[in-house]
Amino acid sequence: MKLLLNNKLLFETLRPFDDLGFVPTMGGIHKGHLSLINKSNKLCKKTIVSIFVNPKQFNNKKDLKSYPINIKKDLKILKKSKKVDFVYIPKFKDIYKDKKKTKMTLSKKDKILCAKFRNGHFEGVLDVMNRLTKIVNPQKIFMGEKDFQQLYLVKKLLERNYKVKIISCKTIRDKSKVALSSRNFLLDKSDLKVAANIYKKLLSIKKNIKNKKNILNFLNLKKIELRNNFKIKIDYLELRNINNLNISKTNKNSRLFVAYYLNKVRLIDNI
Ligand code: AMP
Repeated sequence: MKLLLNNKLLFETLRPFDDLGFVPTMGGIHKGHLSLINKSNKLCKKTIVSIFVNPKQFNNKKDLKSYPINIKKDLKILKKSKKVDFVYIPKFKDIYKDKKKTKMTLSKKDKILCAKFRNGHFEGVLDVMNRLTKIVNPQKIFMGEKDFQQLYLVKKLLERNYKVKIISCKTIRDKSKVALSSRNFLLDKSDLKVAANIYKKLLSIKKNIKNKKNILNFLNLKKIELRNNFKIKIDYLELRNINNLNISKTNKNSRLFVAYYLNKVRLIDNI
């Protein structure tokens, strides 16, 4: 596993490879990231993982400050996996020195879910993914369904502009079915128990949607119920079509999207 700590070294090292799988991360490596790495390792000759906490996608300074960073631990886990050929850990200037990049904007139709509640977040994500793709120049990029809206928007942008395929990977959960996330490192045991109970409740809501005539009404009621029972702030609880992210009137091709705060930590999931 070779460390690439600047762009010059990255360009020199990657030049010979034309079957490169790329797993972009913000560190805090967990089994969710490792599942993307495993898939890349199976489908591509070489796998590169990046660790870069992109300040431009944080709409909240406190959130950026508290983001769990432990590069030493991450490198240990990545090395132990034996599935990673290169780890790219760029500095801010490696990514942002090219100032000419076009400004990313979202269409009105895309300003939903997290885009509605985290102003500027996806503009930052699209910008950094555009820059990373230009720098790393991979054939495939592996991304998790846990961040479904991110996957949807990045796929739309990158597959239109680059010769790259975005490979979506299933959400990996812990034993109690809570979706793994670097942000879970900020939660204690009792928070995680609450998250597990919320997941159970969401699962039953999703099942019950089938019989409901007015899904919007039903979900609004369930949102209030969840908020009161678990004392959580909920940004959204919406059933949406997985192909176009439109509001859905049936369970078919649809997922229940949720974002909520547990102890000031913002968690998202889709079921
Ligand atoms: P992050 O480091 O949180 O920016 O995530 C890097 C990549 O890992 C993104 O494509 C995420 O969607 C993916 N990812 C994060 N958590 C999970 C998970 N529990 N299961 C699958 N993929 C995940």
